[in-house]
Amino acid sequence: MKKLVSFISLFFVFLLSVNFDTFAGIIEQKNIENNINTIETLDSYDSYAAQTKATTIDYVYTPNGTRVQVFCRDEMSYSTIQACNQRGDALVPEATRISSSTTKYNCHSYAWYRASTSNPYWMNDPSSYYTDGSYEESVGNVGDIICYYDNSGFNLHSGIVIAKTSGKSNGICGNSDLVTVRSKWGAWGLYEHRGDQCPYTSTYGGEANYVKYYRKHNHNFVNHYCSCGKYTTSHDYHAPYNWIDYSNHTDTCGCGDLKVQGHAVLSESFMPGQKYATCLLCGGSAEIGFIQLDSSGKVSVNGSYLLPNGVAVLLEKDLNSFINGSLIFFDFEKKDSYVS
Ligand SMILES: [Zn+2]
Ligand SMILES: [Zn+2]
Ligand SMILES: [Zn+2]
Repeated sequence: MKKLVSFISLFFVFLLSVNFDTFAGIIEQKNIENNINTIETLDSYDSYAAQTKATTIDYVYTPNGTRVQVFCRDEMSYSTIQACNQRGDALVPEATRISSSTTKYNCHSYAWYRASTSNPYWMNDPSSYYTDGSYEESVGNVGDIICYYDNSGFNLHSGIVIAKTSGKSNGICGNSDLVTVRSKWGAWGLYEHRGDQCPYTSTYGGEANYVKYYRKHNHNFVNHYCSCGKYTTSHDYHAPYNWIDYSNHTDTCGCGDLKVQGHAVLSESFMPGQKYATCLLCGGSAEIGFIQLDSSGKVSVNGSYLLPNGVAVLLEKDLNSFINGSLIFFDFEKKDSYVS
């Protein structure tokens, strides 16, 4: 088994080194040293190497804007595609091939750039995606990207986690047996497989022995700084709220900034004959007066409204949108135009 895998990877080394010496695939370059003695086995694929000479360089970008080199490659012949399909299927019979072998795209490009069978790019080095802050380590959730590493910390293979199970791992390649992965096997087909059942683990002659999972990093700003170091100038006002007077309290931003805002009371706390109600946010008294809504008021589509002193009288169903800042108050006389 091991020999077969070596042979196939060497075959692609050859292909890449023929086409662009300085850009030879890193994975393949590494294997050259290990497998240099078996190079005579390439003979039967000379025609394939020749027909895939047309290769052009292009670039894609990580979410954080780092440029990543990719290659546009000619397709293999029909008979070579069939041979590659058969080899992948035979090496890992437990896996399910869901798309045919192709030199158009490989594992890293499928996982990091575009998870599509019409992906036109071959990517040798996806590491910028997880070193420039675009992605962060995760624990193997559905949707994560799984990377297979060898002992020297080299990322041999990337895939997408499409399902997970709990239980005790067999430990063959980290806990990869506890996830189901969709991944492209070099120029071989696109497969769905149990995480450890692919050509890259020791079971099938591969050299990967641990995995890491990654998810896209979403900023979470505290004091305007994310843990990744990014800074934002937009404010996010929230608790603590501090009562100022019967009309207003202050909202606090993580940066320490304060904003004066009218109190917010629920419409059902509006007791006839009472002048005050309790603010939902600061807990202090809000003056609601004896004011009737007139044509000069501001109302929401649902019927919440702003009193002239700035206090918001809210219907229960507007509460969440008010707190997260998305509730819109319209001029009362314009309300009709917003209600269908
Ligand atoms: Zn961040
Ligand atoms: Zn702020
Ligand atoms: Zn208040």
